[in-house]
Amino acid sequence: MKENFSRLWSLQQLDSELKTLAGKLETIPARIESLKKQIGEARQEFEQTKQALVEHRKQYKLADVELRAAEDKINGYSVQLYSAKTNEQYKAFLKEIETQKKIKNAIEDRMIVLMEETEALDQKARAGERQVAELESEHLGKIQLLEAEQAELVAAIEERQARRTQVAQSLPGELLKRYERVKANKAGMAVAPIRKERCSGCLSPIPAQRIVEIDREDRVYICEACGRILVVARD
Ligand SMILES: [Zn+2]
Repeated sequence: MKENFSRLWSLQQLDSELKTLAGKLETIPARIESLKKQIGEARQEFEQTKQALVEHRKQYKLADVELRAAEDKINGYSVQLYSAKTNEQYKAFLKEIETQKKIKNAIEDRMIVLMEETEALDQKARAGERQVAELESEHLGKIQLLEAEQAELVAAIEERQARRTQVAQSLPGELLKRYERVKANKAGMAVAPIRKERCSGCLSPIPAQRIVEIDREDRVYICEACGRILVVARD
């Protein structure tokens, strides 16, 4: 019977370790995803800025073409002004020139705004490119470390699972069933060592006489308050 208690305790320790390891392993994919997402978002913003920059340069060129067209019209009407036959024609040409000058001014204003915006976008694109490169070098390293940690955790879990199978097989079937039942009810902690004359699972006091009995390890004692299997702490 005595060896069963040390096996029970080993089982409990292995299960606790497995729980901790599984808890750590569980967090890794989300952490990797989050790092990849940050890189992806920075890259996407950079691409959008580059796209806006291309669009702005295109708009500027178009405005430049419009500007030249307006200037050509102004020049054309200015020449025609001298060949006006009547006062009405003269006024009409003058009016056209005025209209084209207004158009030209509006285009020039738009070009100034486009130029300023292009400048700002250009700076943003440069900063974005640097940020993407920084995030990539920084986060890809972190991702590699996380992937290595993930592999280590998987190996550690497999190793403990193999040991757990051995320990579980060495326990009498009834005791193992009881262990599993209590474990399921007690959030993974089925075996409670007695510390300072208390059940370490629920902190209920255990009478001194009972501790002496438990210490003989000739049968299984259950904490009356929480139902865990009591063992005398050996560590
Ligand atoms: Zn208890």
